[in-house]
Amino acid sequence: MNIAKRIQKIKPSMTLAISAKASAMRAEGIDIIGFGAGEPDFDTPENIKEAAVRCLNEGFTKYTPVGGIDTLKEAIIAKFKRDNGLNYNKSGIIVSCGAKHSIYNAVQVLFEEGDEVIIPAPYWVSYPEIVALSGAEPVIVETSQENGFRLRGEDLNRSITSRTKGIILNTPSNPTGGGYTKEDIEEIAGIAVERGIFVISDEVYEKIIFDGFKHTSIASIGNEIKDLTVVINGVSKAYSMTGWRIGYTAARKEIVSAMTRIQSQSTSNPVSISQKAAVEALNGPQDTAIMMVKEFRKRRDYIVERLNSMEGISCFKPFGAFYVFPNISQLYGRKYGDRIIEGSLDMADYLIQEAKVSIVPGIAFGADDFIRLSYATSMDNIEKGLDRIEKAINL
Ligand SMILES: *Cc1c(COP(=O)(O)O)cnc(C)c1O
Repeated sequence: MNIAKRIQKIKPSMTLAISAKASAMRAEGIDIIGFGAGEPDFDTPENIKEAAVRCLNEGFTKYTPVGGIDTLKEAIIAKFKRDNGLNYNKSGIIVSCGAKHSIYNAVQVLFEEGDEVIIPAPYWVSYPEIVALSGAEPVIVETSQENGFRLRGEDLNRSITSRTKGIILNTPSNPTGGGYTKEDIEEIAGIAVERGIFVISDEVYEKIIFDGFKHTSIASIGNEIKDLTVVINGVSKAYSMTGWRIGYTAARKEIVSAMTRIQSQSTSNPVSISQKAAVEALNGPQDTAIMMVKEFRKRRDYIVERLNSMEGISCFKPFGAFYVFPNISQLYGRKYGDRIIEGSLDMADYLIQEAKVSIVPGIAFGADDFIRLSYATSMDNIEKGLDRIEKAINL
């Protein structure tokens, strides 16, 4: 069959595929411990759910303005001011059906065939595919564990060509849990301004940070970089609202208006009920969100220590998000029974078969020396799962 060439080069999301495999094994009655989850394991806070119920009872169930209701835009504007010191007005804000949708629309608006878009690796799985769908070429630039998985200014500078139109930054990062300091961000901002490239800044994990790490939005560095930056955020991760599908963008009004045009001819507005719930998430009490971060930090401490105590594994200690990204390359070449582990996919396969533990191979994030474990699961599961991994790698 002749489906469009544009689509033929797009890979399905590997993270979603791995959750599906774990679910299938569970359905067969196999006790799988899942470290694959890309979402918090907590329920959506009660006050947010109540706001949605109220909204239903009041019959707020029809189309809304394409780019989101005014009360939500106002809540988002207040959030940017409060958390990031950023000033936007309503023409600079658009609400979409999840941050992934926000990124998709922003990429469609900014990039096209002939453009290059820089993506530091390890990267979030969807960036290269979303860029490829726009016709532009993703240019992957490596970072190192030693440098906390941060893109260095010199590497960025070296990767920019006359075709470079933008870069996608993600801080704190999925999959590494690393993040950029204010000085790092200033350096990148300086280069972006000097070379005139756009920055899509994915900040969905800004609230899930530990050890006093301070999140800096690159748009807050100065007016020139603010004009070049498209800030992406959402309620999925911070408020455990992944199924509600609300993400948002702040950018120059020309960019926002073009994104609104795409949305008006594709999805129309994000779900009306979810929008009201998102207003409550942003404006309401933050205690549940804070409790989640505390719990994540406890789990991170435990999991990093356990992994680093295992022979052949070296794990960077993240200061954000809810993933660890241990380097397992010292185990490559090892023989387990009649199989040899030669990369992260082999390790993922070995662990699910032998240890009944599911993880995501680093190759999905452009870093084959690593695996990703999400600690958005109970402490009980984490202990049991790590016991199983330790036993399997010591076989
Ligand atoms: C989860 C995630 C998103 C997308 O979140 P939505 O549920 O679409 O709002 C975007 N970027 C990163 C890095 C993520 O981990």
